[in-house]
Amino acid sequence: MNLNFSQEEITFQEEVRDFLRRELTPDLVNAAKQTSAVFTEKEVAMEWQKKLAKQGWLVPSWPKEYGGTDWTETERYIFSSECAQAGAPNLIPMGLAMIGPLLLGRGTKEQKDYYIPRIISGEDYWCQGYSEPGAGSDLASLQCKAVRRGDKYVINGTKIWTTHAHLANKIFCLVRTDNSGKKQEGITFLMLDMDQPGIKVEPILTMAKDHDFNQVIFTDAVAKVSDRIGKENEGWSVAKYLLEFERSGGIGGSKSLSDLEFIKRLINKISSTHQNRFFTKTYFRKVSELEIKAQSIQYTSLRILSSLKEGDSPGPESSMMKTLVTDLEQEISELTLDVIGYYGIPFQDTGYGSNKDSNWR
Ligand SMILES: Cc1cc2nc3c(=O)[nH]c(=O)nc-3n(C[C@H](O)[C@H](O)[C@H](O)COP(=O)(O)OP(=O)(O)OC[C@H]3O[C@@H](n4cnc5c(N)ncnc54)[C@H](O)[C@@H]3O)c2cc1C
Repeated sequence: MNLNFSQEEITFQEEVRDFLRRELTPDLVNAAKQTSAVFTEKEVAMEWQKKLAKQGWLVPSWPKEYGGTDWTETERYIFSSECAQAGAPNLIPMGLAMIGPLLLGRGTKEQKDYYIPRIISGEDYWCQGYSEPGAGSDLASLQCKAVRRGDKYVINGTKIWTTHAHLANKIFCLVRTDNSGKKQEGITFLMLDMDQPGIKVEPILTMAKDHDFNQVIFTDAVAKVSDRIGKENEGWSVAKYLLEFERSGGIGGSKSLSDLEFIKRLINKISSTHQNRFFTKTYFRKVSELEIKAQSIQYTSLRILSSLKEGDSPGPESSMMKTLVTDLEQEISELTLDVIGYYGIPFQDTGYGSNKDSNWR
C-alpha cells in the first residue's frame, strides 16, 4: 500500500492550488466562515458554484458528457481537501449531491438532458420534500397524497424541515399514491415546480433565528407524470438510492483539521488577552485529541483510496466515515463553543459581506 502522492498527483495538486489562489476571493472565504446556519448562504454558494462550473470542476464524479472530470479517486480527494483547507464555501447539496446523481442513475434520457445542465448552471435550485410532521425517522409512514389525473398528479398534504424551500424553484418529493399494501409499496417519487398556486411555504426559524427550514403545504399542487422518477408506487427504492449519495458525505478529516486550526488561533488570542495559561493548557489537550481523530480519519480515507486504486471495493471503512466525521464535527462545534464562551455573541450577525473586519479568524 502506497499512501504517497505520485509526481502527476503533486502536479495536479499545484494546479488546484493555483486555481484556488486565483478564484477563491477573501470575500468568499470570509462569507463561508461567517456561516452560522447548517448550509452556506445561497448567494455565497452559488457564486462559488459558478466559478467551479466555469472551470469544469463542479461535478467531478459525474459522467464526462454531463460535466464530470474523469479524475481518479485520489485527484478527487486532493481537490476536496485543498478546497476545505483553503476555506472554500460548501456547495448546496440538494441539486449537486442528491437529485443530480439520482437523475444520472435512475432518470430517463429526457430528464437528464433537461435537468442536469440546469443544476450545473444554477438555473434550478432544488429542495428536498421527504419528511412530514408524522414521518421523520419512520419515513415510509408519509401521507402527502398524489392522485393521477391524465398526464398530471394532483398533490395534497404537507412536508416539513424542507431546507431552503423558500429559495428553491424546484422540489423533489416522496408522495403516497397507494394505501392498500405495505407502506413502502405505495410511494412515488415526483419533481415539481415550487412556483405554483398550490404550494405555500411557511418559515421555521432555528433557535439562532436562522431561516433555513420550512413547512411546505400542498393544496392541489400539480406535477407532470413525465417528472416522475421510476415507476408509480416504486418511489421507495428511488428514495433509498438518493439517500446513498446524501450519506456518502465526502472525504473526511480535512475540513475538521482546518476547523481545529481556527480553534488553536482562538485559544492563543483569548489566552494572550487574559494571560491565562490554565485556559491554554486545558483546551490544547482537547484540540490535540481531536486532531488525532481527524488525522486517523484522513488516513482511513487515504487507505480507502489506495485500495480503490488497486481495484478493491471500498469495504466497511467507507460506511463508517459518515458517522465518524459527523461525530467529530459535533465534538469540534462543542469545543468551539466552550472556548469562545461569551465572545461568541458578536458573531450572531452573519451574512455575506457582514463582519468582514472581524479579527478573530
Ligand atoms: C439540518 C437538517 C436539515 C434537514 N433538511 C431536510 C430537508 O431538506 N428535507 C426533508 O425532507 N427533511 C429534512 N430534515 C429532516 C430530517 O430528515 C428528519 O429530521 C429526520 O428524518 C428525523 O425525523 P424527525 O425530526 O421527525 O425525528 P423523529 O423521527 O421524531 O425522531 C426523534 C428522535 O427519536 C428517535 N427515534 C425515532 N424512532 C425511533 C425508534 N423506532 N426507536 C428508537 N428511537 C427512535 C430518533 O433517533 C430521534 O432521536 C432535516 C433535518 C436536519 C437536522
